[in-house]
Amino acid sequence: MKQLRVTLSGLALMAAGLGLSVSPANAACEAATAEFGMSRIVDIDTTHGPIFGAMTNRSREPSFLKPNEVVLTFDDGPIPWITKSILDTLDKYCAKATFFSVGRMALAYPASVKDVMARGHTLGSHTYSHPFNMQRMNIDAAAAEIERGIAAVSTAAGAPVAPFFRFTGLADSNRLLGYLQTRSIAAFTVDVVSNDSYTANANKLAEHTLAEIAKTQGGIVLFHDIKAATTKALPIILSRLKASGYTVVHMTAKTTVTPMAYAMHYVAPKLTKTPQAQEMGPMPTLPETPAVTRQITEVAPDARDRTEPSGKASPHKASRKRKAHSELPRSIVEAEADLAHTAN
Ligand SMILES: [Zn+2]
Repeated sequence: MKQLRVTLSGLALMAAGLGLSVSPANAACEAATAEFGMSRIVDIDTTHGPIFGAMTNRSREPSFLKPNEVVLTFDDGPIPWITKSILDTLDKYCAKATFFSVGRMALAYPASVKDVMARGHTLGSHTYSHPFNMQRMNIDAAAAEIERGIAAVSTAAGAPVAPFFRFTGLADSNRLLGYLQTRSIAAFTVDVVSNDSYTANANKLAEHTLAEIAKTQGGIVLFHDIKAATTKALPIILSRLKASGYTVVHMTAKTTVTPMAYAMHYVAPKLTKTPQAQEMGPMPTLPETPAVTRQITEVAPDARDRTEPSGKASPHKASRKRKAHSELPRSIVEAEADLAHTAN
């Protein structure tokens, strides 16, 4: 109990210091203000639980992106060697992304979660154990998945995270969006699916992703930081986007989300069972933000009524949603096995 209180107060103490106060690892980015990955920050006020992105049947917010702008998002990780490769590529292109990490993956690989934050990216969450049937789950069980995910990612990061959430399988519902509203958490669906859950060939993956981005002239792009093909395709995608005049927009959150105590109780004992837990120190001291002038756009959607019954997904949308996420990634199963092994 004592340790839990320390953890919670530690998180609270760090709440004010996140977001824009971190710097890109690549010093060369300092001179790249008007370029590809440093063009614009969209700072989102999540107070009324907005939902962004086209792949939903719910009442969503208008896009905050202009033509030829993309937001890069990575789900389901971290996996150390994959996430690190993606972070290195993003640094090379001075681009910032949003990571929707899975709680139990974050607990298995906390050093990778810290690395995501230390390199100035936005960290959101994507449930605790990646259930695919959230629409059909009892509301309390679904809420517990959301809350345990937030608690696990925050615990692994050693700091509060963004109130940004992505539904597994993009399976949202008005009832669950209503729950997120009570917590002032924004939901993010997607505009472009990279198909990296289904394509192991990096060149094909890059071509598909670029073609989809061209169709919509940009948007929120879904990748997964659990796939080797993604690490190989990303440099191709970013260099081609840059050459085509696209820019990467960095989404940040105005505030952080405070984990619920019951969820912290659930995850706290699990972290101590991870092999990396002993190696974890405090959050590294981050360098000051370099003198980079980026345009900051503030987005603060109004409250919306989520009380109407959930609409039925059209077959087209449902099929696209299914394609957006693979079955439970093998890597998550492996991470669970790691946890079980170290618990013995
Ligand atoms: Zn997922």
